[in-house]
Amino acid sequence: MNKRTHKSADPLGGARYINRLNKIKVLNIIRSSESPSRADIAKISGLSAPTISRIVDDLLTEGLAREIGEGVSQGGRRPTLLKFSDRKNFIVGIDLGTTNIYGVLTDFEAKIIAEVNTPTCVQEGFASVMRRTSDVIGSLINEPSVKEKRIYGIGMAVAGLINRTRNIVEFSPDFHWHNVDIVEFLSRDHHYPIIFDNVTRVMAMGERWFGLGKQFKNFICVNVGYGIGAGIIIDGKPLYGPLGMAGEFGHITLNKDSLVQCDCGNFGCLEALASGNAIARSAKTRLADGERSILFDQCGGEIAKVTAEMVAAAAKQGDALAWNVFDRAMEYLGIGIAALINLFSPEAVVIGGGVAQAGDILFEKVRKTINARSLKMISSNVSIRPATFGLKTAVMGAVSLVLNEVLSLNHDKGLARS
Ligand SMILES: [Zn+2]
Repeated sequence: MNKRTHKSADPLGGARYINRLNKIKVLNIIRSSESPSRADIAKISGLSAPTISRIVDDLLTEGLAREIGEGVSQGGRRPTLLKFSDRKNFIVGIDLGTTNIYGVLTDFEAKIIAEVNTPTCVQEGFASVMRRTSDVIGSLINEPSVKEKRIYGIGMAVAGLINRTRNIVEFSPDFHWHNVDIVEFLSRDHHYPIIFDNVTRVMAMGERWFGLGKQFKNFICVNVGYGIGAGIIIDGKPLYGPLGMAGEFGHITLNKDSLVQCDCGNFGCLEALASGNAIARSAKTRLADGERSILFDQCGGEIAKVTAEMVAAAAKQGDALAWNVFDRAMEYLGIGIAALINLFSPEAVVIGGGVAQAGDILFEKVRKTINARSLKMISSNVSIRPATFGLKTAVMGAVSLVLNEVLSLNHDKGLARS
């Protein structure tokens, strides 16, 4: 059922609402167009010249737009061209991973000004991980190379099931967290708006804002790292589902007879068969059973040290065990993605995350499996490609969470300045 637009009984309230919508429209035109003039904005928006003048003046005062000189005259005065943001505006993006906490400070064009990478040390527990995250945020905010800056917010990508009503991580199998409140913890040190979401959806949002979204409105971002998830973008919007938990692609059962238990408790989940964790575990089990492989020498006989990255590298070198482990995992991944393609008929599927860094060896098997296991009429038009920003996709998505608030003019409710 569609929600009906609420109209205020107060006529002035109604006018304010329209003004706000117009301002959002103009701001988005300035961001998405190539240096438009006020006349260009009038043409695109259909708004009157005085309305645009007033809105642009506001945006210039607020630092959300800047004038960048004059364009070519169409007869009469040369028009002044506009750009998004006055260059004093910044965003902190955090990719809170199980191995590393990766943080960036970017401007509004998502150009990275500074970055920090530090080990997560999950085993030390939630409070310790939060303190480390807080330190990363602190060092980015205090980045000395930019003297004058307004921080509009902190965007974060977190692995786990997010309860959007309570704004907490309800369950994270990767971190072994239950009902943790990230915002409450980090707000003790940092008085900025903090927006977080599930890492895979955040990656999809990064693609939507800065990568694939320029070309496609319907696509799926599959994240294959320690775990597996899918961020589904339909008509330019992320799919949340009523609980905000849609896209748990890793926890669909692909082998009902599997004895491998997933972190979620089920047996035979895609994540238990094809994630980085699963690839490493499968190789370790077979090495422990005495199978021969160059992996044994590469880990110095310490089987526990074998990683998915090592398996992918050994597979590329032609090692039979490594090849078999990786190939089987990618077949499961391909079967899963074939189902996604049949269900959602996307224009593209991007595959990101640590395991996707293996490159061709992954994409060849996945493409082959999709061809064999999906409906050709649908899948033949689907572009299967690596994530646009590689391992930076999640952090770019985290930045986009804040930018989305800025462009919806939500920032004025809670903006803090450094
Ligand atoms: Zn599972």
